Amino acid sequence: MRVTTAFNHLLQLPGVHVTDVQFGPQVVSVRVALRRRLLVCPDCEFTTRAAYEIDREVVSLWRHLDLGVWRLQIQAKLRRLECPTHGVRVEGVPFAGARSGFTTDFESLVAWLATKTDKTTITNLVRIDWKTVGRICTRVVAERLDLKRLDDLFKIGVDEISWKKHHNYLTLVTNHDTRKVVWAAKGKDTATLDGFFTELGEDKSAEITAVSMDMGPAFAKSVRTNAPQAVICFDPFHVIKVAVGALEEVRKDIWRELRTLPDQSVAKAFRGARWALLKNPDDLNDSQAATLAGIRRTGGELWRAYNLKEALRACFDGDLNAEDTVSMLDRWCSWAQRSRLEPFVKAARTIRKHRDGILAAINHKLSNGLIEGLNNKVRLIIRRAYGFHSADAAIALVMLSCGPVELALPHQKAA
Ligand SMILES: [Zn+2]
Repeated sequence: MRVTTAFNHLLQLPGVHVTDVQFGPQVVSVRVALRRRLLVCPDCEFTTRAAYEIDREVVSLWRHLDLGVWRLQIQAKLRRLECPTHGVRVEGVPFAGARSGFTTDFESLVAWLATKTDKTTITNLVRIDWKTVGRICTRVVAERLDLKRLDDLFKIGVDEISWKKHHNYLTLVTNHDTRKVVWAAKGKDTATLDGFFTELGEDKSAEITAVSMDMGPAFAKSVRTNAPQAVICFDPFHVIKVAVGALEEVRKDIWRELRTLPDQSVAKAFRGARWALLKNPDDLNDSQAATLAGIRRTGGELWRAYNLKEALRACFDGDLNAEDTVSMLDRWCSWAQRSRLEPFVKAARTIRKHRDGILAAINHKLSNGLIEGLNNKVRLIIRRAYGFHSADAAIALVMLSCGPVELALPHQKAA
């Protein structure tokens, strides 16, 4: 078998045949030629037989999937064309996207890996830097995101999430029926969510029945303007977050006091308390469980605050009907208001004020489990996206992992 035939079989690149193979230092260079005579614009459907300045061909290079320990590079001589919309462009190829230095197979692999594992693993395995991974994610999402993701939206959730250090925020919109993130943008205010409704259009906005969110005013304002028929729901996840925030305040106050003591041994023992207190008791590891047991023995304000947080969580456990939940919530609010813990007195006020919206979430069956699960997944992914420099890349990774995107590995695509 000739080497070019062998590489045709090995690479299975669509629309080209291999004309030459060369082994350089650490890299196999495979020269290919397009089968088609027509020139295709890389950015649209435009095709033509007429090349632009036929004698000036351009050599383009793409990185393809590694071959054993070898890097593999594809080389092709391309012609240029003049597209009525895009002007003079180098012709598009069937095995790679426009303006990408990687083949589609290579990009599919990287995008798939990015949803599965961490930065160090990916950059070592595929030997590209993390910013390049971000750019690849952005391109793959632009190509594969389900164009119908904004159809048939009825029950949606809106959430803000911090990305990178604390002053970067993204707003995410989730379809509760499919449990997929369907829209995301930079920012976290009323105007950010207005952008979603603009993209959705008036007709589809009018179909939305319920929107779940946190108890801040920004998103509610946008919903009242753009989808006034929708019921605003404060879902259990965001209600519990209010108590989690109050517990954090109590813990920080105690921590600040301990730090001023001459004997720092107590402060030291207290250092691991944060996660022991915040995580669900079922998810604690052994040392966190021991820390929590210590807090329990000590008792006092922190233990009371912890119990209040857990009691609020218990209000939303299992399949509760609205009536039971409301009576449990009311009891919780009176307990919190008598707790003499200022952050919890405030939390109780907030919850009382938003009681109707909390009830609406129960009536629309927006359970804590439903929202917490997706939220935890998004949070895990967004931490992975910290090293990306653009919000677009971070959004792309969220979409790849939690959105309506069909991801396939190169060998799966062949089927
Ligand atoms: Zn074009």
